Amino acid sequence: MKRREFLKKAGTGAAAAVAASAIAAPNVIAQKKYNWKMVTTWPPNLPVLQTGAVRFAQRVKEATDGRINIQVFAGGELVPPLNTFDAVSDGTVECGSGAAYYWAGKTPACQWFAAVPFGLNAQGNNAWFYSGGGLKLWEEVYAPFNVIPRPQGNTGVQMGGWFRKEMNTIKDYDGLKMRIPGLGGKVIAGAGGTVVLLPGGEIFTSLERGVLDATEWVGPMHDLRMGFYKAAQYYYYPGWHEPGTTLEVMFNKKAYESLPKDLQAILDAVAMETNMWSLSEFEAGNGAALQELITKHNVNLKQFPAPLLDDLRELAKDVLEEEADKDPLARKVHDAFKKFKAQVGVWGTVSENAYYNVIADKFKLKA
Ligand code: CA
Repeated sequence: MKRREFLKKAGTGAAAAVAASAIAAPNVIAQKKYNWKMVTTWPPNLPVLQTGAVRFAQRVKEATDGRINIQVFAGGELVPPLNTFDAVSDGTVECGSGAAYYWAGKTPACQWFAAVPFGLNAQGNNAWFYSGGGLKLWEEVYAPFNVIPRPQGNTGVQMGGWFRKEMNTIKDYDGLKMRIPGLGGKVIAGAGGTVVLLPGGEIFTSLERGVLDATEWVGPMHDLRMGFYKAAQYYYYPGWHEPGTTLEVMFNKKAYESLPKDLQAILDAVAMETNMWSLSEFEAGNGAALQELITKHNVNLKQFPAPLLDDLRELAKDVLEEEADKDPLARKVHDAFKKFKAQVGVWGTVSENAYYNVIADKFKLKA
């Protein structure tokens, strides 16, 4: 049949109806829409962490053409920040965002999925999650709670923290009152320090008044915003306690599994995209903020002495073994993490480490 004849025939009667319905089909079949809620552990507008969660929701909406609409609530707006995991687990909300070390009280094994003292950096953590079986283990750890985790961000190597006195040996931690969460806090406690856990909004005043002798927070970009340079003189690096902290998005299992496969794939893809976006934001922002802290606010930037770091690393080994002994799943995760770290470490020594040593003198900070 010639095209013109076909079009003529198609323009009449039943054929026209068939043609019209074929063209209109995507609009005729109403696709189910999902209105979800997300709660987070972060304060409203906290750069990269909370804004990353908001960005995740926006990107999901765009990528699904509005089929998934996620309303994001910062910490405390719908549930208290540290109830995020429970809210996702019991289905109060469909998803949440935070960092896995906040849930150590639920399951000690979760701590390896956020930050391990002297553990993997961002690149190493991502390699473990996506290519080394780490995400499978993480899913196994959250499964009893009906929660499905995905990496959603990474801070990169954090700073060691703000101190009101110089840190020369591990003995300087004895009696030191420091705000430092997670496994890093357990190492400091092992060194004789007193670990104080405070909400973000109370740290500055406590440091200024000497209730705290030291605090860590994130990196230059976030630390500058908190104004810690006004309350403590020494800014130490590197953040051995959080060498590449992973941020997470969590889905309620029933909610996630109720989605068609294409929408599940979009959630996974946007989580992965947000993970890369977040690390890029930290990498792009920290250098300029560090420079500002030094040149504008005269911060005394100091590297922890090597022997002090050696002592902390030995102590961290014991702390990790003790934590792993608390629970069979924690043991399984710790052993897998250790094995993977040794494997990528061999490569990192001759790749990233060797390369950075070669170019290090090209990036001197302006004093
Ligand atoms: Ca931190």
